[in-house]
Amino acid sequence: MSNGKSILVDTSLCTACRGCQVACKQWNGLPGTKTKQIGTYQNPQDLSSDTYKIVRFAEGKKENGKPYWYFFSDMCRHCVDPPCMEKAGDLSAIYRDKPTGAVIYTKVTKKLDPEEIIESCPYNIPRMGKDGALAKCTMCLDRQQANMVPACVQSCPTGAMVFGERSAILTEAKSRVEALKGAYPKAQAIDADSVRVIFIVSDDPRKYHEYAAS
Ligand code: SF4
Ligand code: SF4
Repeated sequence: MSNGKSILVDTSLCTACRGCQVACKQWNGLPGTKTKQIGTYQNPQDLSSDTYKIVRFAEGKKENGKPYWYFFSDMCRHCVDPPCMEKAGDLSAIYRDKPTGAVIYTKVTKKLDPEEIIESCPYNIPRMGKDGALAKCTMCLDRQQANMVPACVQSCPTGAMVFGERSAILTEAKSRVEALKGAYPKAQAIDADSVRVIFIVSDDPRKYHEYAAS
């Protein structure tokens, strides 16, 4: 029996080209966002109801004093047991697509308490739009149903993003982490057992983004 689908995001291969961010906007017909330079290449500065995918940039110093510059292409993790769906308690507002496992928000989310739903998400993903509905990544369910891979995965030129059956993605994640561990002992696949969008990082997840791990 199929265990649904998964996306692997191997940040060790990400060059922060932001092709995924643009592809997501293009496929979903989302408008550009007005931004300003605040001393980081992160642009726009956060997720929104018009930005389902964002490459976050993080700079700092490692324990050995050497600088790091990490990229984290943030998006909904499509949790295996989604806390947002449980909190909503209304499958007409937030439901899980059975064949793929994608967690989908509808316009009925307007009827929910937005703060409650946003706070329930361990990864700080949902955002409220001008119409009062909550919005986020759809795992490109429409493309999956047409036998296409998600737009962000399709656009990735480095192989940092991979899409497939969940069991195959878990195996791929394990083997990539093992390969990284020689040079980067803290390498890990974040929350792999509980999410469908699995991020591989080479260092402490919190150095990449405050909400990288649950
Ligand atoms: S990452 Fe957040 S918004 Fe996405 S399924 Fe999980 S709880 Fe819901
Ligand atoms: S899976 Fe689709 S909706 Fe989600 S971030 Fe990627 S392109 Fe955007």
